Amino acid sequence: MSPRPALPRLAVIVPVFNEEASIPVFLQAILPILEAEALPSELFFVNDGSVDGTLRVLHEARLRHPQIRILNLARNFGKEAALTAGFDLAEADVYATLDVDLQDPPELLKSFLARWREGYDTVYGVRISRDEDGFLKQKSAAWFYRLFNRISPLKIPENAGDFRLIDRRVVLELRKLRERSRFIKALFMWPGFSACAVPFERRARVKGNSAWTFWKLWNFALDGMLSFSTVPLRLWTYLGLFISLVSFAFVAFIVFSTLIFGRSVPGLATMASMIGFLGGIQILSIGLLGEYIGRIFLEVKQRPLYVVESLE
Ligand code: UDP
Ligand code: MG
Repeated sequence: MSPRPALPRLAVIVPVFNEEASIPVFLQAILPILEAEALPSELFFVNDGSVDGTLRVLHEARLRHPQIRILNLARNFGKEAALTAGFDLAEADVYATLDVDLQDPPELLKSFLARWREGYDTVYGVRISRDEDGFLKQKSAAWFYRLFNRISPLKIPENAGDFRLIDRRVVLELRKLRERSRFIKALFMWPGFSACAVPFERRARVKGNSAWTFWKLWNFALDGMLSFSTVPLRLWTYLGLFISLVSFAFVAFIVFSTLIFGRSVPGLATMASMIGFLGGIQILSIGLLGEYIGRIFLEVKQRPLYVVESLE
C-alpha cells in the first residue's frame, strides 16, 4: 500500500458536454459533500467542446467557488478523451470521476474515500440493478461482459462504469497509456493494484438526454473487445481450418461415390451454396482483418488525444 497522506489533495474530474442545465444541480449536490470531507479538493471540469452556455455557467460558478477549475478543450473529443485530459492535467493524491448528470450519486464519494484510506488503490461503483434499462439492453450488457472477459486477458468487473476513485499511483500508470481506441473502463483496470467494488443504485439523468443510441453502444462494445483481444483473429484461423477439413472430406466422398456408383448426379445447388458460403466467410474475414488494420492505421498516426484551449 502506498502511504496515505493525512490531508490528501482530492481532484474530482467531471467531463461536460452541453450540460448548462445539469451543472447548477450538480454543484448543489457535490459542493456540500466536498466541504464535509474538508480536504484540499478541486472540482476539475473538462469542457469537451460544448456549444451551449456550459462554459459561461462554469465561469460564473468559479467566481463563487474558487476550488472549481476549468479545462477547456478546443472541440468535442468525446468523453474518453475528456476524462484522459482531466487525469493528465489535474494534480492530486487521489482522483475521483463522476458524471455531471447525477446518475452517479456523489454521496458515495464518502465511502469511496473510506475504502481508499483502508488501502484500496481503485474503488469503483457497481450498478446493483439495471431495472431502468429495457430487457434487451440488460441482456446485451450481460452478454458483452461475459464475452469480453472470456476473450480478453484483462478482466473487467461487470456493471462497473467510469464512476470511481483512484490513487495517484494508478493515475501515473494510466497516463502512460496513449492508445487512441480508449475503452476507458478497461484502461482503468489495466495498471492493476488493489481494487474494491462499492454497489450503488444508478439513478435517472437529472437534465437533458443521454447521447447513447443502440448503434453507438454496439460500436463501443466492438471497439472495446477488438482493442483488448486478438482472439477473433485466431478464431478465424480455426474456422478456416475447419472449413478446409470439411471440404476435403466432401471431395473425397464425391470421388469415391463416382468411382463406386458411376457418374454422380449434377450437384448444382450444392455447388452454388458452397460458393456462396465460402465467399461470405472470405469477405467477413477481410472485414475482420480490416477492423484491426483500421485500428493500426489510427494508432500509427500518433495524433494527440485532445487539444487544450485553456486551463483556468
Ligand atoms: N460527455 C462528454 N463528452 C461527450 C459526451 C458526454 O464529456 O462527447 C460527458 C457528459 O457531459 C456527462 C458524461 O460524459 O457528464 C456522461 O454522458 P452521458 O450522461 O450522455 O452518458 P451515459 O450516462 O448515458 O453513459
Ligand atoms: Mg449519464
